[in-house]
Amino acid sequence: MDMAKSSTEVAIEGLKRLLSDKEGLDEIAAAKIEKLTADLQEQDHEEEFDPVRRIKDGFIHFKIHHFDKYPDYYKQLAEGQHPKFLVFACSDSRVSPSHVLNFKPGEAFMCRNIANMVPAFNQLRYSGVGAVIEYAVKHLEVENILVIGHSRCGGIQALMSLPADGTTSNDFIDDWVKIGLPAKAKVESEWSDATFEEQCEHCEKESVNLSLVNLLSYPYVRAALANRALKLMGGYYDFVNGTFGLWKADFDITPEIII
Ligand SMILES: [Zn+2]
Repeated sequence: MDMAKSSTEVAIEGLKRLLSDKEGLDEIAAAKIEKLTADLQEQDHEEEFDPVRRIKDGFIHFKIHHFDKYPDYYKQLAEGQHPKFLVFACSDSRVSPSHVLNFKPGEAFMCRNIANMVPAFNQLRYSGVGAVIEYAVKHLEVENILVIGHSRCGGIQALMSLPADGTTSNDFIDDWVKIGLPAKAKVESEWSDATFEEQCEHCEKESVNLSLVNLLSYPYVRAALANRALKLMGGYYDFVNGTFGLWKADFDITPEIII
């Protein structure tokens, strides 16, 4: 595809043409042009972000260093996926589990949303999340579900900032983060003297626990737990200090007895 060129790019090309035919130029002039070209290129690099180029470069890097380097691995993956994990993580651009936990393609089925929340089973709402859980647990038979919270979560700050009178100022965000209201209530009662920042940090962890509890409302999750085929885990990634906390949800699930 022929893309529009910036004026800087045009200038660089002109200078390069001059340089390629520099026999007629004296050395000082040639050196000056070379310096000018380098400066312009640097300036162009600083000023303009080209999203298409970024995407192309990213894929080329992946293709060279991963896809083409491990053909057997990717051939096997093309036949099917058998991930051991279903991971819930925040949409926050800083917390991708593929980077933070080094998950390779095929290792983790993933659901990312604002504040990494798992709503309770509800077929009338949140069907996107419900479909992920149903597919991962019933069909892929993942062995672990990991819900990861994180430091300085904007979604949790939105939850903790919700006005008590119930007024909303966003189309979707307020309603979505309300899934975490029980976690907020717990934090406000147990940490009433803490600062807002401290309360947010407690809520980032409590909302993970709430999500683990909410997972129990899905019948296939309960069935897999009862069969000892599934483990639920909570995690917390702190990107300020560079630490990762992990805890197991220890629910004593026994099969329902129907008389
Ligand atoms: Zn977040």
